Amino acid sequence: MTSLTFLGTGGGRFATIYQVRATGGIYINDGGRLHLDPGPSALAGMRSLDLDPALTDCVMVSHCHPDHYGDAEMLIEGMTRGGHRHSGTLVAPRSVLEGGGRFSQAISTYHQSLPREVIEVAPGDRFQAAGMTVEATPAVHSDPDGVGFRFDTRAGMISYVGDSEIDERLFRVHRGARVLIINLTCTTRTKIPMHMYTETAAALISDIGPEAAVLTHFGIGVFEDGVEEQARYIEKESGVRTIAAEDLMTIEVGREIVSRPAGPPPRR
Ligand SMILES: [Zn+2]
Repeated sequence: MTSLTFLGTGGGRFATIYQVRATGGIYINDGGRLHLDPGPSALAGMRSLDLDPALTDCVMVSHCHPDHYGDAEMLIEGMTRGGHRHSGTLVAPRSVLEGGGRFSQAISTYHQSLPREVIEVAPGDRFQAAGMTVEATPAVHSDPDGVGFRFDTRAGMISYVGDSEIDERLFRVHRGARVLIINLTCTTRTKIPMHMYTETAAALISDIGPEAAVLTHFGIGVFEDGVEEQARYIEKESGVRTIAAEDLMTIEVGREIVSRPAGPPPRR
């Protein structure tokens, strides 16, 4: 059984500033525990679900925007027990680790010195993280170093497209995913460049044909037009079961894919 816990389902500037929903990223438990894109409120979300940051094996950041890295340094401190244990893995692209273009380094040199391993990733790279084989996938976003990820888990392939506008490469690299996670920052009406919106999300989901698509990282425009409405539209267009994630929801991926509303994960 592999589980995906949504420590936040908001994203984009204003949904994050006003915490319309939490923005703490996705916590993947595949035996190893990986915290993906821990934006502001990741720590608060872990606290409310009784998840211990000291048990995290990997902190992973897809790109250099604060709704994706806001709590990353504190989580690295958690993973390394306050910096006293040289352990765990940090995965991020160059912009996050070194800066570049309009971005300065998002994780300090000190915090990069704490984990046992730091892996700088670019699209196409394959590496091990929290016991999984992971591939960094391309993204077209306002951080040109931004990536998505596909995770080879015990329950099969789980893909995270990351922040990206639609691009022909996405149709290829995410093929075979059982679960396809889409950051739906805007709707077709409120679309902004460099982001996925309802229509393009439906096209990608329809073509990949996963067992389930999961929408998260909702921006203000999605709340205006209705989160559930976007999910129902995509499900109708694609014929793929489409789940609009909610804060602190867990999706269990076993033989079946089951979503559970907010609540502590079962003890294993
Ligand atoms: Zn972004």
